[in-house]
Amino acid sequence: MNLSELAQYIGDEGKAEQALIEKGILKRYDVCPICGEDRIGRVRRSKYKCYRCNKEWGVRRDSVLEGMKIPFTKFLMAIKLFELDTSVRESAKQLGLAYNTVYRLYQILRHAIVITDTNYQSFSGEIEMDESYFGGRRKGNRGRGAAGKVPVFGILERGGKVTVEVVSDVKGDTLLELAIRKVKRGSLIYTDRFRSYNGLVSYGFKHRRIDHGKRFANGKVYINGIEGFWSFAKERLMKYHGVNPAKFPLYLKELEFRYNHRDHDLFADLLQVLVGYSSVACTE
Ligand SMILES: [Zn+2]
Repeated sequence: MNLSELAQYIGDEGKAEQALIEKGILKRYDVCPICGEDRIGRVRRSKYKCYRCNKEWGVRRDSVLEGMKIPFTKFLMAIKLFELDTSVRESAKQLGLAYNTVYRLYQILRHAIVITDTNYQSFSGEIEMDESYFGGRRKGNRGRGAAGKVPVFGILERGGKVTVEVVSDVKGDTLLELAIRKVKRGSLIYTDRFRSYNGLVSYGFKHRRIDHGKRFANGKVYINGIEGFWSFAKERLMKYHGVNPAKFPLYLKELEFRYNHRDHDLFADLLQVLVGYSSVACTE
């Protein structure tokens, strides 16, 4: 959806609300959520009322927007700005919102992306696995070569999607556990010669190793796909100039999502991750 289509889609507050109801982000109430009565009505702009139990509830009840005062139009525009990778500061300026409001919304989107991640054994076919280190611009921190660097393990299905996880270490057990959880048995896995991948065959995977020295010499034995993702992710993370380590996994999952949805309408996909997501789920 481009900006002009977005303007049409959003329209005014009423139209934006309708769009959010149709998407399933706001709930559509046919009966009273308290007593189940179907004689209900809209009493004010933002309230419904039950004519049996006389209880009232807000239009944002049980949705991601509960407890947020942001207008529906600006909510949708903020999602578009997130899609376009606009900084929190710039979005807040463009929308006339407080920095913290936009920051919270961006974090909610990232949390929603993580929660909707359904990777369980969903990778199959030809798979590339690799590990990489992120962050830690201070080099050689008193003898600890990897000080401040965060190890990340990546799995990529050729012609398909990628999944990445921050890991505590890159020992065989750690990587194998993730491989077993995410990849179907019988898949053909390509890795480099790192010894942590030694156990793959005993868990029912086919395994071929590449030799970095002669990567392109033997046909399909390469891991260019996952290495392409590392470049994509590192280039984008440069923008953030040092992400808070506690938040890094969240940013990483955002990059995974962007990469996997690179040929989709990202705006529509972002709306989709918010369906059924409640803002109370985001504990920040
Ligand atoms: Zn009622």
